[in-house]
Amino acid sequence: MDDNRRNPISGDEVALRRIQRLALHLYTPSAPLSGELSLLPCRAKRNLSPSVESLSEYMRGPHREIQARIFEFFQSRPDLQTPVEISMAEHRQLCMKQMMALVREAGIRPFRYLVENPSAYFAIAEAVGGIDISLGIKMGVQFSLWGGSVINLGTKKHKEKYFDGIDNLDYPGCFAMTELHHGSNVQALQTTATFDPITDEFVINTPNDGAIKWWIGNAAVHGKFASVFARLILPLQGKGGKSADMGIHAFIVPIRDLETHALLPGVEIHDCGHKVGLNGVDNGALRFSHVRVPRDNLLNRFGDVSRDGKYTSSLPTVNKRFAATLGELVGGRVGLAYSSVGVLKIAVTIAVRYSLLRQQFGPPRKPEVSVLDYQSQQHRLMPMLASTYAFHFATQYLVDKYSEMKKTNDDQVIGDVHALSAGLKSYVTSYTARSISTCRESCGGHGYAAVNRFGILRSDHDIFQTFEGDNTVLLQQVAGDLLKRYQEKFKGGTLSMTWNYLRESMSSYLSQPNPVTARWEGEDHLRDPKFQLDAFRYRTSRLLQSVAARLQKHTKTLGSFGAWNRCLNHLLTLAESHIESVVLAKFIEAIQNCPDANTREVLKLVCDLYALDRIWKDIGTYRNVDYVAPNKAKAIHKLTDYLSFQVRGVARELVDAFDLPDLVIRAPIGMASEAYEQYTQHVGF
Ligand SMILES: Cc1cc2nc3c(=O)[nH]c(=O)nc-3n(C[C@H](O)[C@H](O)[C@H](O)COP(=O)(O)OP(=O)(O)OC[C@H]3O[C@@H](n4cnc5c(N)ncnc54)[C@H](O)[C@@H]3O)c2cc1C
Repeated sequence: MDDNRRNPISGDEVALRRIQRLALHLYTPSAPLSGELSLLPCRAKRNLSPSVESLSEYMRGPHREIQARIFEFFQSRPDLQTPVEISMAEHRQLCMKQMMALVREAGIRPFRYLVENPSAYFAIAEAVGGIDISLGIKMGVQFSLWGGSVINLGTKKHKEKYFDGIDNLDYPGCFAMTELHHGSNVQALQTTATFDPITDEFVINTPNDGAIKWWIGNAAVHGKFASVFARLILPLQGKGGKSADMGIHAFIVPIRDLETHALLPGVEIHDCGHKVGLNGVDNGALRFSHVRVPRDNLLNRFGDVSRDGKYTSSLPTVNKRFAATLGELVGGRVGLAYSSVGVLKIAVTIAVRYSLLRQQFGPPRKPEVSVLDYQSQQHRLMPMLASTYAFHFATQYLVDKYSEMKKTNDDQVIGDVHALSAGLKSYVTSYTARSISTCRESCGGHGYAAVNRFGILRSDHDIFQTFEGDNTVLLQQVAGDLLKRYQEKFKGGTLSMTWNYLRESMSSYLSQPNPVTARWEGEDHLRDPKFQLDAFRYRTSRLLQSVAARLQKHTKTLGSFGAWNRCLNHLLTLAESHIESVVLAKFIEAIQNCPDANTREVLKLVCDLYALDRIWKDIGTYRNVDYVAPNKAKAIHKLTDYLSFQVRGVARELVDAFDLPDLVIRAPIGMASEAYEQYTQHVGF
């Protein structure tokens, strides 16, 4: 029997079908390949034709105008643009000059926005970070940390005295929390602020070298004030007439003379020196030797000391006051999460544009193909592009929630913003840090030229994972919060918006997986947002339930600290899984709210890739509990590759829709046009 009789499909048909399948990996609707390959048909149901303008319009948000003003201002001032090669000393001076010019010449007052319109402030921070990440961080230290501590931890008298100076940069300042021996564990700080009832002053002191304030931004060169976090000590107020330690409080401490800029008596500052990145920011180490400040310099919103040395607070315990104090500082995390997405957009744009431009190899005797047509390159970059979109909407949501929190002071919103800012800050900054390296690799040798930006993006952004709360520490806060909500669920308490799914669907998520749906593998099913969201939430719910049981078991023998440590990796996975669920939910919501059908369709494609890629990356978990049968796992894998291929077809439009001007992209290889020409010109041809 010949082959044709054994198989009703002829050998030619088989070959044709195979060619058609291969073509799926090569066909591109937006930038047809040269030669015959472009004539091969694609199985895509229909080509998407995204309008960059409407996509961009939808992404832009309400503050594009102010971002455009910032870009125009720096575009018109080449003297304020950071060159590729610059010494640390020059970079620090340039950063200060850039910030001064922004405030005093361009008339953009970030501090006022921070107080009156936080979402505009975060948009400014993102744009400024696009000019130079060092500038973004220096601005964050001045307005969000130093200014934010005065506004949020102080009272009316502090606002009246310091607002204008912080706003117009007459009072450049620092946020001095971290010490040599303690960063993450703020409750263990050792600097003291002892009340002297005779002079009505606090005496700020560094009791040992471990208590030297370390890494303090703006301290080495420019700062004139610092908000110093120290233990408030009240002599004679403790048991048996001993001193009472009232816990960590913040104090305004002048560190340099306003006129001469000389260090003030008792203040010793040393330069932390050259860093891996962010060398435009002057980090310093400070030692205080019995520095006296007036009693009024205590930022007294959550705790105060009267003239006769009595302590008062609306909050009953040291722990509650500590939580309230640190809670007021979440704005920094919101800003970092948001700005990290901005950095990711820059890196992805450069990598995608270059991968479209760059041609290597191809079929025999045919023109070369774009490297983005290689499945491996799509696999590297397209899920990353999809994640950038997902994070864009999630951090936008976080910013909106933060603004709502500031307006309403609603307890539920506060809880939501605290956990979400910790979670998104950790998740997004870790993702961006990894992705910048992938983007560099995907641009081959030219990705290694400093002018093409990956080096500086990577080294400047890297510390986003650590400051404003180490990512591993912050994820534990998310896990702790989830466990608290889990307990509340059983007690019938209220749950805030982002956690509602725990109540609504926990029981269904935790029932045995349905053996029928576990086998469903149709594209419509896999691209159904309900399937995707259910899968994400199922994973979170299982992780939550299992870790709660493990903690309970281990606490009996190991105590709570030991049990927590025994389950730590489990807890971190839980926190990440929850954040991924929130990110997906917000992406789906953003698609539903998009008024333009065409844009909606493109976003849906991108969202499907984000969701299925995440499920595929964690397929072992789903397989282990038979949530997904083998045939379905295979279908998810296949569809993920196919969606990557489809997204590649609209990749140029997707990065163009970020609407980043050349001033921000800067990398010659990442220019929208004439990239090679710009690159050759850069080296002098
Ligand atoms: C460039 C730069 C600028 C900075 N600017 C300022 C500033 O202006 N003002 C200021 O006050 N501070 C500033 N900092 C300090 C920064 O906020 C701290 O470095 C940060 O909070 C982390 O603390 P740490 O360095 O003590 O890390 P550590 O807590 O010592 O962390 C070391 C390692 O231990 C792990 N680890 C720690 N605790 C746990 C735990 N409970 N569970 C599991 N793992 C754990 C961490 O994940 C990390 O890998 C800056 C730091 C840098 C580098």
